[in-house]
Amino acid sequence: MKRTKLEWLFIFIFTPGIIAFYAIYKYPELILGLGVDTRIFGKNLSFWYAFIYTAVVCTIAAKVLIRNKNSYSFKANVVQPLSPYQKKKFTSIFMVQLVGFFLIPYVISPLFAGKSFWHDELAYASKGAHVYLYPGFKSWGMAIYLFVVIPLGVWFFGKRYCSWICSCGNLAETVGVTVWGKKWVKEGTPRGERANKNHWIQLTVMSFAILFGLVLLFDSMKVIAVTGIILKIQAIQDLCVDFMFGSVIGVAAYPFWGTRIWCRYGCPLAKFMELSGRYTKSKFQVAANEKCTGIGLCTQACPMGIDVASFAHVNKKPTMGSFGLHNTVCIGCGGCIDVCPTKALSFKSISKSLEL
Ligand code: SF4
Ligand code: SF4
Ligand code: SF4
Repeated sequence: MKRTKLEWLFIFIFTPGIIAFYAIYKYPELILGLGVDTRIFGKNLSFWYAFIYTAVVCTIAAKVLIRNKNSYSFKANVVQPLSPYQKKKFTSIFMVQLVGFFLIPYVISPLFAGKSFWHDELAYASKGAHVYLYPGFKSWGMAIYLFVVIPLGVWFFGKRYCSWICSCGNLAETVGVTVWGKKWVKEGTPRGERANKNHWIQLTVMSFAILFGLVLLFDSMKVIAVTGIILKIQAIQDLCVDFMFGSVIGVAAYPFWGTRIWCRYGCPLAKFMELSGRYTKSKFQVAANEKCTGIGLCTQACPMGIDVASFAHVNKKPTMGSFGLHNTVCIGCGGCIDVCPTKALSFKSISKSLEL
């Protein structure tokens, strides 16, 4: 991948900076020593982490909306306006990140702490890592959210949760439409048969999450008493899944492997959504029409490494194929649709009233 000096300088600051930031955030006592007050202006590190994260996501999302130009085009001088789909998506990203992942958990929630069961459930859900599945075995609210609301959403809308709502996805979507981000997605994203074969890693992470959830459930039901084991599993989860995979590989490696390594190979919720979509026969689909000329930009724009063009043409002859959750890991970001110069791709709508 060709990089300018400025980009290299950014990488030398960004990658170690992200690793150091997450390390201090996750293990403050180990890095800074016992008893060190890590609060800044009276706020703890998780507040500042959420603040910076939200500032980055919302600034880029707002810029995309104000600029109002096709954010997926590879051309330097873009003339097409932002599509209605992307307008809705980036508005959702802006609002959900600001309200759902910052204002509710860090500003509004502390004002009502301990005042009601459902309020505490909401605080837990909005602050906790909602993608790990095991919280669904610890809290009623999370169980309803993860095992009822999410599969229903997948049936109607596919994995758009990943490109419209999820906090991790919000960062990936916004960084992915910056000038460098587009290049990282295009040139860094693992593609091809070998890259797809490694999807078993995500199945392993999901199995670990469900096993952990069951241990937590049985422990809370007093079927087994394994507090020591739970602490050990939690420590493995924190170090291997959350820190090393989700943070170091998942975010610090954006410039090398694109923006969706964690989403594609790590996230347990993504695998759960993919399986829910497959077995419930999700209505979500992307379809190609007769306008495909075989340029292949759609494949290059896909952050999930899907060979979109293979569904659209064979030897530059349109095949009018389609794909969904039964055969891909598509997150419905719409990048392939917006980058296509001939408008050969679109989402299949399941009804006029739910057209997206
Ligand atoms: S794959 Fe997981 S982490 Fe990534 S956006 Fe989807 S739910 Fe979030
Ligand atoms: S769908 Fe569009 S971008 Fe993809 S190969 Fe066909 S013409 Fe090119
Ligand atoms: S196939 Fe298209 S809509 Fe699906 S993830 Fe890739 S770019 Fe996004």
